[in-house]
Amino acid sequence: MDLLAFFLLGVTASHAFEVTLMDSTDATSELGWHTHPSTGWEEVSGYDDKMNAIRTYQVCNVRKSNQNNWLRTDFIDRNGSIRVYVEIKFSVRDCSSLPNVLGSCKETFNLYYYEADSSFPWSTDTSWDKKKDSFVRVDTIAPDQSFKGIDMKGTQLKINTEVRSFGPLTKRGFFLGFQDYGSCMSLISVRVFYRKCLGTVDNFATFPETMAGAEMTSLVVAHGACVENAEEKDMPIKLYCTGDGEWLVPIGSCMCRAGYAPKVGDIACTACPEGAFKPSPGDDQCQPCPLNSRTMGKAANSCKCRNGYYRGHQDPLNMPCTTPTTSRRPTITNTWQASPRLRDAPHQAPSQVPIIHHMSSTMNSIKLSWPQPEQPNGIILDYEVRYVEKDQAETNSSVINSRTNTVVVRGLKAATIYVFKVRARTEAGLGRFSSGMMFQTRTKEGVSTLREQIPLIAGSAAAGVVFIVVVAVIVIVCSRRRYERGDPEYTDKLQHYSSGHGHKIYIDPFTYEDPNEAVREFAKEIDVSGVKIEQVIGAGEFGEVCSGRLKLPGKREMSVAIKTLKAGYTDRQRRDFLSEASIMGQFDHPNVIHLEGVVTKSRPVMIITEYMENGSLDSFLRQNDGQFTVIQLVGMLRGIAAGMKYLADMSYVHRDLAARNILVNSNLVCKVSDFGLSRFLEEDTSDPTYTSAMGGKIPIRWTAPEAIQYRKFTTASDVWSYGIVMWEVMSYGERPYWDMSNQDVINAIEQDYRLPAPMDCPAALHQLMLDSWQKERAERPKFGQIVNTLDKLIRTPASLKTVACVTPGISQPLLDRTLPDVTSFATVDEWLDAIKMGRYKENFANAGFSSFDVVSRMTAEDILRIGVTLAGHQKKILNSIQTMRVQMNQIQTVQV
Ligand code: AMP
Repeated sequence: MDLLAFFLLGVTASHAFEVTLMDSTDATSELGWHTHPSTGWEEVSGYDDKMNAIRTYQVCNVRKSNQNNWLRTDFIDRNGSIRVYVEIKFSVRDCSSLPNVLGSCKETFNLYYYEADSSFPWSTDTSWDKKKDSFVRVDTIAPDQSFKGIDMKGTQLKINTEVRSFGPLTKRGFFLGFQDYGSCMSLISVRVFYRKCLGTVDNFATFPETMAGAEMTSLVVAHGACVENAEEKDMPIKLYCTGDGEWLVPIGSCMCRAGYAPKVGDIACTACPEGAFKPSPGDDQCQPCPLNSRTMGKAANSCKCRNGYYRGHQDPLNMPCTTPTTSRRPTITNTWQASPRLRDAPHQAPSQVPIIHHMSSTMNSIKLSWPQPEQPNGIILDYEVRYVEKDQAETNSSVINSRTNTVVVRGLKAATIYVFKVRARTEAGLGRFSSGMMFQTRTKEGVSTLREQIPLIAGSAAAGVVFIVVVAVIVIVCSRRRYERGDPEYTDKLQHYSSGHGHKIYIDPFTYEDPNEAVREFAKEIDVSGVKIEQVIGAGEFGEVCSGRLKLPGKREMSVAIKTLKAGYTDRQRRDFLSEASIMGQFDHPNVIHLEGVVTKSRPVMIITEYMENGSLDSFLRQNDGQFTVIQLVGMLRGIAAGMKYLADMSYVHRDLAARNILVNSNLVCKVSDFGLSRFLEEDTSDPTYTSAMGGKIPIRWTAPEAIQYRKFTTASDVWSYGIVMWEVMSYGERPYWDMSNQDVINAIEQDYRLPAPMDCPAALHQLMLDSWQKERAERPKFGQIVNTLDKLIRTPASLKTVACVTPGISQPLLDRTLPDVTSFATVDEWLDAIKMGRYKENFANAGFSSFDVVSRMTAEDILRIGVTLAGHQKKILNSIQTMRVQMNQIQTVQV
């Protein structure tokens, strides 16, 4: 009993479930139950308390003594239940209201049952009455209230409802018996049911549907099985089903395996997304891969070091991977663990250096950089750079070695074209040279000609006339791109390598004279047979965006988003469409959308990326207005900042960072997306967000002033846009600068006006926004600093408690249109619409809150009482009321 009391205290959610075995009100014709003697119970049509037509039994032999009237039901199959419940609705006439009945009148009846394996357990259908003694009595049932008869106004029936239960039952079924011994009563309805605990999932274990026990106090044990991707934590895993059909607290539990994280509610374990890992079983969430490491798919329990990066044997799995050149810990160098590929092929030389990039030239030097070979097959010790004046024999070439993937070749002749080749060296030897590429020194210092900076394909075929033709073609292609993207200088487009740190740097696909080559290099070709398109989810620049499934050989099928290129495309459209894949394919970060690959060998051409269940951030926030905690919002911002830091570290400038270009998955992880370039082009006039500006189109509201004015797009201008994204997030998808025109926005920014803090926005976050909107771009924080600041805020949630002061008024140095001025509204309804709480108009009106005077005095309890149950909405209304009070006070002050 103590044990039961203990469990009962811990009852979790109620899962009681009733299964009806028989209900007399379901009868559409006569019930035809069996009566004995025939002068007793009588079947009649009647109405229940809701005036539904029903079949009832009644008896009223009150003036005759020694009554013993039996009524028995048909056979009721117990369907495996052990204890059944009988709910009886009945009315009984008050004996005192009946004349001349004296002692013979009763106001009670008896309930019996008789167990049987068949519907005819008796020798003949009528002989059951001889067996009445073997019926088991359940109870004598008395009404809570009897009635005195029918008055002038109509019936005065008093309907009683009583429930009785009996068990344990062992045979296939049973009959019910009702014994009247002299009452005047009506059996209005009889319902027979049993209780069971419904199948449930608790503590990562599934429990089967379980019949309640034989007694009310019974506890029927149900053994749990761990859900998919979970394993036992403590044994035994069980739940108890009570006699009432309710589950009691679980004993033992399961936990999510390594590589899988708990889903809200502890009901499932979901695979860590690509780029994240969980090293051991338990309740922890997945964590992003440390620097320079990545996963090979979902559900990773560790992140593998990327090629050329290593982790010491002793290093914990959350340590970044490093290279010999970046490691500041010499002890690690000696213990570097070879990656699997390295161990498999320890004696194989590195593969070819894929390409050489020109970074800058002077009159006598050229600075170059290159990505590391696709398969280094070991630790790259250094690179050999070989160069020779064009038209000179290979035997005259010079060699320099570089320990990093960058070099400055000095001592060159001015205005001279040189051919360069690079190869990597590991312990296994020298790899294959890159193909030769030509670059030219400057004619004179400070003058940069386009031609001087163009990479030229070298080799025998590139000599002479062919060379000139190639140069001419590339000049045309590159100048066209330059016009299209409006870059003031070609060098702006060549995204630079940072030297010496060994990390991967973004390569602009348009630096390839054949952008298809960039697609081949950075995007995996996927066989269309593994792609299943399921439904259209959006409209992209070039065609529909669909969701679907992707099955790659040897991998589990996964959900993907599929961007398609619509039929009838031009070569140029195909190239621009695929350029997004060439860009995306270079990135590998948990907060940057992941490219699975492309389909180019069949039609339609497709770009396949990971699927983000919640779509784009702006619409997601609008749909969930006020529904997230500040920490959740800051978590989203942190993700976006981390993704942007990664892109900035790769020297990639996004140019179009905005909430509409962030995608959100089911775990609320935000990922930077949209690396397409075409929307910046002049020709595309379909989207008003992108306003024509000199040399291209610009999303004015998100863009830093220097980028609008003279197209200075840098990581610092991305930081400005990030500040706008912060504002979008904290205001749940509000349009930056509301309905102001683009020109007004440009003017306001020029006059140092900035967006005010959104409602409820912590002051620290608004400060970060204002920092990102510094006029001087050098003074804006770097993405790394933004990530650190957000991390600190997340670690110390108290720092988010101080909400930025929102005090409207024309004397404010900053634009302040967050909260509408109460004086501009005629009615409370209008005001509710303006604060986007129009759905509560009726609640306000019905409760009498229909003037600003009474609304301004509302308390949190009032708001809850009128039916605003969502915490986010309560807060929003309360804050707006506070501002209303401030505004009303100001009006009064002015009037005084
Ligand atoms: P985009 O052409 O990239 O702007 O995509 C158009 C729309 O398709 C987006 O606004 C999203 O709603 C949807 N979408 C694009 N990529 C994905 C993805 N990876 N997962 C889910 N939805 C996506």
